[in-house]
Amino acid sequence: MSTQLQNQELNAAQAAIYTRTNIHRAFQDFDDTDIAGLYLRGDNCLVVRRDGSEQTYPRELIKAAYSTYTHRLKDFFSYLGPNYRGPSVWHNNAYVLFKGWNYTHALGHLTSNAKLQAHWADKFIHITEEQKALALLQGDQTDLGHLVAPDGLRLPNQPLDLDRDMEDQEPSVSPVNAEPYCSCGSFQRQLLNVSDFQAEIQGFKPWCIHLTWFNKYRELLCKRTEARNASPSGTPDKCVAWWYAPPADSTSDGRFVLLHTKSGAQSPLSHWRTYKPQEVFTQNHAWDLFFNMMEAGYVPFPGIALPQLKSAIKK
Ligand SMILES: [Zn+2]
Repeated sequence: MSTQLQNQELNAAQAAIYTRTNIHRAFQDFDDTDIAGLYLRGDNCLVVRRDGSEQTYPRELIKAAYSTYTHRLKDFFSYLGPNYRGPSVWHNNAYVLFKGWNYTHALGHLTSNAKLQAHWADKFIHITEEQKALALLQGDQTDLGHLVAPDGLRLPNQPLDLDRDMEDQEPSVSPVNAEPYCSCGSFQRQLLNVSDFQAEIQGFKPWCIHLTWFNKYRELLCKRTEARNASPSGTPDKCVAWWYAPPADSTSDGRFVLLHTKSGAQSPLSHWRTYKPQEVFTQNHAWDLFFNMMEAGYVPFPGIALPQLKSAIKK
């Protein structure tokens, strides 16, 4: 019997894991050009080049790169809707999570997706059918965001059937599937092929960047409430006001500016100081700055909500 390992074709889950980009994430010097095929051979991913040469890369490291990538935390502004709006409650235990079209570019608010978001933001709650909501959020013509249910999606309640006896009625509240859920393509692909993913990655559970971001945002809201409740008067003295100017072009970062005070959110501009005026902060600093500030007892407020500070920030 031959002991030589066979080249194995990729199933759908493996094809999502052993991609050129994920191999590159695991091996910085990986050359992703002139590839004729990707296969598995034992513990390795086999790369066959057009000239017939072959290289092998350990599967474990590519799997780890894939998991890290699908769990990564995107910046604070990545999933805020118009006016820094966070996820909003929808039906079936789910939330509408908007993509941060307003914050990707200085002119982002002029994109059709941002305009549709502004138009629909308060109206999604009136759309009760999941397929209709999804057609608007992530349809052929739109890319507004996703439906996310970090605590699991609940099936829509069935209307009561009055022709049947009470004893025969199903319970009116459908059970909650407690597994986190997202409507995005990445998550749905994992869900569809979950047994193949589980065979490939031990303890695998479908996940996506939207769930990571959502959990972080929720943690921020909890910490903010804690910081707020910690002040004996109920009105916090230690406050941070923040502003954000999206990137002017595709190569630059946005500017994130913070003022802080110990005299309360309503105090006049003269009572506020710029936080670390010598440093330049971008969207990539926002999460850490918020959490550090709250750790020090400061409660963050969007600067646009504090009109007395208007003159502090030039457009
Ligand atoms: Zn997602």
